[in-house]
Amino acid sequence: MLVKAPRGTADLLPGQIERWRWVEEVARDVFRQFGYAEIVTPIFEHTELFERGIGDTTDVVNKQMYTFLDRGQRSLTLRPEGTASVVRAYLEHHMYSGPQPVKLFYIGPIFRYERPQAGRYRQFHQLGAEALGSQDPALDVEMIAMSIEIFRRLGLADFLVHINSIGCEVCRPAYKDALRAYLQPKLDGLCRTCFERYEKNPLRILDCKVAACQDAAKGAPRSVDYLCESCREHFDAVQKYLDALGISYELNEMLVRGLDYYTKTVFEVESRSLGAQSALLGGGRYDGLVEECGGPSTPAVGFAAGMERAMLALEEQGIQAPSTRGVDAFVVAFANDKRGQVLALVHQLRQAGLVVETDYLQRSMKAQMKAASRMNAARVIICGEDELSRDVVQLRDMTSGVQEEVPLATLVERLRAELC
Ligand SMILES: [Zn+2]
Ligand SMILES: [Zn+2]
Repeated sequence: MLVKAPRGTADLLPGQIERWRWVEEVARDVFRQFGYAEIVTPIFEHTELFERGIGDTTDVVNKQMYTFLDRGQRSLTLRPEGTASVVRAYLEHHMYSGPQPVKLFYIGPIFRYERPQAGRYRQFHQLGAEALGSQDPALDVEMIAMSIEIFRRLGLADFLVHINSIGCEVCRPAYKDALRAYLQPKLDGLCRTCFERYEKNPLRILDCKVAACQDAAKGAPRSVDYLCESCREHFDAVQKYLDALGISYELNEMLVRGLDYYTKTVFEVESRSLGAQSALLGGGRYDGLVEECGGPSTPAVGFAAGMERAMLALEEQGIQAPSTRGVDAFVVAFANDKRGQVLALVHQLRQAGLVVETDYLQRSMKAQMKAASRMNAARVIICGEDELSRDVVQLRDMTSGVQEEVPLATLVERLRAELC
C-alpha cells in the first residue's frame, strides 16, 4: 500500500511532464489571445454547490463525487468539474457588476469516483473556459473555435464538431413530454439507470451507451424540432457563424451532454484522425446556472477538455513536445579540499543562467565523463587539483572533442556567450 498510488490516480514523471506542460503553455497562449484570463479556484467546495449547480439527477452528483466531512463537520466535495466553481467565484467576487462578458479559463485537477478503465482516472485534469454575462451566439462559436485552435496548434487536424440545441426552460418541458411519450412503451427495455432517468431527466437516455437504450432512442423526437423562437434563432446564428469561420460541423440530435445545467447549444469536438471514441472536448451554454447558484440571471457558455485524453491523442499521433533545454555544462569534481571552490563555480554558472550538473557520488573521472555524455552535456569542465591551484580549468567541447585550458576569471562570461 505504501508504495502504490491510490486506484485511479497516476504520477506524472519526468519524460511525460514535458509534453503536459507544453500543452498547458499552448492552451494559455490561445486563451490569452482570445481574451480569456486565468482563474484558479480551490479543488474543494461546499457539497451543496455541486448538488445545486450540476443537478442531483446526474451520475456525477449521484455516484461519482468525493464527498467528506471535514473536522468542523462541514460537507465538502473535491470538484467533479470546473464550471460550478467558476460560477461561484463570479458571484462571490461580484464580477457580474463589472464589464461583461467575463471571460475566464482554468487548468487543474478534477475528481470523480469512476470505475478505473483505460484512459479514465479518479483524479484527472481539465482545461476549460467560461464566458459569462452575454447570450451572444458568437460566444458559443468562439468557444468552439478557441478549443479547436488549441488542438490545431498542438498538431492535431481534421476536426469534426457535433452540435445540438437542447432548448431552454421555455421549450424543453414540451420536448421532455414528447420524449417520455415516445419512450413510454419501451420503458421496460431500458437499463436501470435510464429507467430512473425517465421521469426527471429523459434527455440523458439519448446518449446512454447501453445497446438496448440506443435502440429505444432510435427515431425518438429531436429537441431541435421543439425549440422556441429564441432558441431557434440562437441555434441558426450559431450555425451561420460556424459556416462563416469555415468550421465544419454536424447536427447530432443524440448529443445532450451529461450535466443538467446545459441550455440551448451543446457541442463536442473530435479529431477524425483519432478514430472512434475520439471526443477531445465538450461544452455548451448554461443560461440558468448562475441564477440557480443564487446570482442574477446571467447567460453563459463554456467548454472543458481532458488533459489525459489530449495526451493520449498526441501520443497516438506521435507528436512530441518541442525539446527543452539540455545540460549546458557538467562540472567534473573530485572530493578533496578544493571541493568548496568547485561548488562555488557550479553555483556561479547557475546564477549566470546556465544549466549545470555535477557529481554527488565521488565517482572516478571516467565515470563522471560517462555521466556527462549520458546527459548530453554540451561542455565538460574538469576541475583538477593542479588546475584549481593555478586558477584554471580544462574546458571540453563535447561536440567537437576539443579540450583547452581556460582561466577561471573568463570562464563564466565565455560559456554565457557561447551557450545562453
Ligand atoms: Zn427555448
Ligand atoms: Zn440506459
